[in-house]
Amino acid sequence: MVTAESTVDLLVVGAGTAGLAAAVEAAARGLTVTVVEQADQVGGTLWRSWAQMSAGGTELQRSRGIEDNPDLHFDDVMRISKQTADPKLVRLAVDHAPVTIDWLMSAGFDMDPDAPAILYFHEPYSLPRTYWGRRGGRSVLEVLVPRFDQARDVGALTAHLSTTMTELLVDGADRVAGIAVVDAAGRRREVRADHVLLTTGGYAGNATLFPELTEGAPLVGPGAPTSTGSGISAALAVGASTRGGDLFLPTYGGVLLRDSESTTIPLDDFPQLTPQSRQPWEIHVNRRGQRFVAEDSASVDVRETALLDQPGLEFWVVYDQAARVKAPPLLPSYDEDHLVEMFEDHPSFCTADTVEGLADLAGIDPDGLAATVAAYNSGVESGADAWGRTHLPLPIAQPPYYAVRNHGTTLKSPAGLVVDDQLRVVGARGPLSNLYAAGEVLGGSTLSGKSFVSGMSVTPALSFGRLIARRVAGVEKGTT
Ligand SMILES: Cc1cc2nc3c(=O)[nH]c(=O)nc-3n(C[C@H](O)[C@H](O)[C@H](O)COP(=O)(O)OP(=O)(O)OC[C@H]3O[C@@H](n4cnc5c(N)ncnc54)[C@H](O)[C@@H]3O)c2cc1C
Repeated sequence: MVTAESTVDLLVVGAGTAGLAAAVEAAARGLTVTVVEQADQVGGTLWRSWAQMSAGGTELQRSRGIEDNPDLHFDDVMRISKQTADPKLVRLAVDHAPVTIDWLMSAGFDMDPDAPAILYFHEPYSLPRTYWGRRGGRSVLEVLVPRFDQARDVGALTAHLSTTMTELLVDGADRVAGIAVVDAAGRRREVRADHVLLTTGGYAGNATLFPELTEGAPLVGPGAPTSTGSGISAALAVGASTRGGDLFLPTYGGVLLRDSESTTIPLDDFPQLTPQSRQPWEIHVNRRGQRFVAEDSASVDVRETALLDQPGLEFWVVYDQAARVKAPPLLPSYDEDHLVEMFEDHPSFCTADTVEGLADLAGIDPDGLAATVAAYNSGVESGADAWGRTHLPLPIAQPPYYAVRNHGTTLKSPAGLVVDDQLRVVGARGPLSNLYAAGEVLGGSTLSGKSFVSGMSVTPALSFGRLIARRVAGVEKGTT
């Protein structure tokens, strides 16, 4: 059955980070708003994201005596991204970022008392500029969802949950008329709108689409299952194009779920491989049993880039009983009983009484691993490591030996839709005048390049969603 609704000012497709922010702002500006969300709840990736945000020039920084501004933020983003991020969109993002953080604060955001800070999970900023809530993405939801619900309750917006956009409906050469959706009962409907905003997120939950859009790179990660990439596919079908698939860089480490070849354990449970948080007592080896980087390199970009060249984008963290007993926990969220269970029956956790036996079990070349362990141990003894590592606490010499298989993982998908500087999707013949995009659908690499820049996904998703709503309101109602 095909039915049509009356036309609304703004149709928001996807109610995650960017979509919720856009819908709330648009409703507050007096637009008629319809929101379509495929899941049976709003929130998207915010349910699992750390939602670390970044902005230069906030009230909070000023109150702490931190002198920062969007220009310094811009320079840092371009430095960390090695000039591979899109400078125009980075400029737009950093200019709006402080307003977004100030807005969250004025809305009662539960900011962690340690924020803002310089964090080291990604290549660090030069100033304390990263912010996060005490409950990660859930703290952001605690601001957005009540405002969304309230707007819906007073009739300022209409939300259709469990309703999936299947296609964009074109209206001449440079416009869209709306979208086609399918609801939970399988009914097809058309929703008409003057403006359509794609906030459908990325494709880090779609192991089939991931290599297609990312030059064959495999998907391994903790991405949300709702990150299907269907917004990108729908836009491609009406002449849009993607960019950034060549800018894939894996995040360093992460362990697969027991029964999956693409989904990892939650990010909070990943092994602690950031030297600024925990110095390594282990070595990291590839399938050939060879080390490929100084495990204590202060630069995560150096470690991630080295991992990019390893076969299968996988590596094993190898250690012995002495490290197990003496080192700070490698997997801090697992207690001893849980760890014993993992070594008993999880395929990524192996233990054996000899180095060669460990290699056999793990699928590493035994001769390669034995030679690497011997070379590492003589470096520990002499104090001169072949890879320049300086943290050399103990040789790997006391059985049993352990290996934990890790992967180059994906938190956000790199490729996304090409947009112009007004965030309008660019089609085969130029920008589509009323089709906008915000959030990860723009591509994770657009604002981070071939790198990871702290907070450069969630903050711009919120900022761009709100900005587009205001622009549409300005066009439609004469407000700014
Ligand atoms: C574990 C993890 C940690 C992260 N940590 C950080 C961090 O600390 N800082 C940071 O900046 N970024 C982080 N990220 C990335 C960041 O969270 C995301 O890029 C961002 O939240 C994406 O927001 P979005 O609005 O674009 O998409 P989402 O929040 O994913 O929302 C998209 C919504 O669209 C819906 N949708 C999709 N297709 C359709 C369709 N066809 N029809 C209807 N609805 C549809 C989805 O169901 C979903 O609700 C992290 C990601 C992960 C997975």
